[in-house]
Amino acid sequence: MNDPATVHRQDQEGAAARESAAIFDNLQWALPGGGRKFTTDGNPPEWLVRLGDRHNKALAADPRACEHLADGRPGARVVLAWWPGVLLCPRCVAAMDPLPDDAPEERTCDGCDTFYPEGLKLIAIQVRPDTTFHAFACDNCMAELGLTA
Ligand SMILES: [Zn+2]
Ligand SMILES: [Zn+2]
Repeated sequence: MNDPATVHRQDQEGAAARESAAIFDNLQWALPGGGRKFTTDGNPPEWLVRLGDRHNKALAADPRACEHLADGRPGARVVLAWWPGVLLCPRCVAAMDPLPDDAPEERTCDGCDTFYPEGLKLIAIQVRPDTTFHAFACDNCMAELGLTA
């Protein structure tokens, strides 16, 4: 039996998941070539677990969110690997200025911390129905995700 509050919450969760899927359309904000989408199969590689821990610790110590997600409001959320502890909605991510072409964030793999002068691919990993994790990753770290776009 669904009480009205449960139905309302399910509506919000469904909307958040749909909005999260739309995040991938906005990947171009960071790299001209767009990004690649991954999902985790419940067995994420060590580097993703480590980045997730770092984000969760930062979030617990000093939670920051865009105005649309403030005070724990529901909705699709984006976590940027290079900005731990910050929750952004897709609209705010899309409105961000692109990283400059020579930004070190685009050249250092978030997974293995290796510097790649030629640059890296931006990837989006669906870590929860309402949460997408963005990172710059090398081929090796992408391969560890197992699933490709
Ligand atoms: Zn926002
Ligand atoms: Zn790597």
